[in-house]
Amino acid sequence: MNRYKLAVIPGDGIGKEVISAGLEILEAISSRDGGFEFDITHMDWGSERYLSTGKFMPEDGIEQLKSHDSIFFGAVGAPQVADHLTLWGLRLAICQPLDQYANVRPTRILPGITSPLAGIGSNDLDWVIVRENSEGEYAGQGGRSHKGLPQEVATETSIFTRVGITRIMRFAFDIAQSRPSKHLSVVTKSNAQRYGMVLWDEIAAEVSTEFADVSWDKMLVDAMTVRMTLDPASLDTIVATNLHADILSDLAAALAGSIGIAPTANLNPEGDFPSMFEPIHGSALDIAGKGIANPIATFWSASMMLDHLGELDAAGRLMDAIEQITSDTNNHTPDLGGAATTRMVSDAMLEEIRGRNV
Ligand code: ATP
Repeated sequence: MNRYKLAVIPGDGIGKEVISAGLEILEAISSRDGGFEFDITHMDWGSERYLSTGKFMPEDGIEQLKSHDSIFFGAVGAPQVADHLTLWGLRLAICQPLDQYANVRPTRILPGITSPLAGIGSNDLDWVIVRENSEGEYAGQGGRSHKGLPQEVATETSIFTRVGITRIMRFAFDIAQSRPSKHLSVVTKSNAQRYGMVLWDEIAAEVSTEFADVSWDKMLVDAMTVRMTLDPASLDTIVATNLHADILSDLAAALAGSIGIAPTANLNPEGDFPSMFEPIHGSALDIAGKGIANPIATFWSASMMLDHLGELDAAGRLMDAIEQITSDTNNHTPDLGGAATTRMVSDAMLEEIRGRNV
């Protein structure tokens, strides 16, 4: 029996609701499989903790996480706390020290779900977006001085390193190589950004020589939004910087039907530190407490976690169950145009996993 130590950080808003649903599903899948179990540590890290203690996580939070195999994360964000404090106080405060440099965002039109793009079916949109997750525009370099004065100044410096670019390019080419199309699109902005993005392009070309069987193209980020919308079938694996992929993956999620179904993995591919799995959506306070959050993004993230842990059968079974569920529109929550609740979707998943079809 494999035992995995799982750190669970539900966070704020619907993060709590979808993670609670996700844990039920993980429990069901491990009972069904019988070959592995989770030892769960629940962490109350998030905005409530920040408002009462001034910190999103304990001083030794990273050390606590290091003793786990994986992290299952919900969402963080509250109206009383500025978004940049939240992001840097918790999500990035975990990703950076644990060197989760590869952020993987699969996007597909799941069965039963309609893309807002007319005439686009499931075979026309099947992408993996790889986001550089440790440096670039979100490296955390910059500052502000002369606050409040007319000469106030703020800098936000992007950092691109040979090590950082090389490792994310290798990771992305590797993923492209593992998929049937064997094609990678490298997103850039090297026409306007002459240093970091030119280095990015150069290293993409260098790394491409290690992957002779993978074809690749280079696309300016602005042109990429057009290609994603007008010619989605021409894309397969996409690699982009921290900022570019952040934006493109929200577009991808919308084109695939809803942000409520989009999963992500923050990977430390070498396994030196635990990786973190989460839905890409935020705390969505407009629907928090109503019981209508779509838990599919979290279920899909759980499947990615099982895959990363090496529980490939269970990961596949969970993904099959998700596809069974989405193919019935009675299981669609309001974000997908349906009337199902989180509970109804979870119950349908539990039934699917425990018995009938998968
Ligand atoms: P943040 O916490 O990052 O500030 P947010 O709540 O402003 O995020 P998102 O979480 O990205 O923004 O979501 C935008 C909107 O999409 C939400 O307000 C909500 O209406 C909808 N949404 C997001 N996630 C889900 C979900 N899982 N199920 C249903 N609707 C969702």
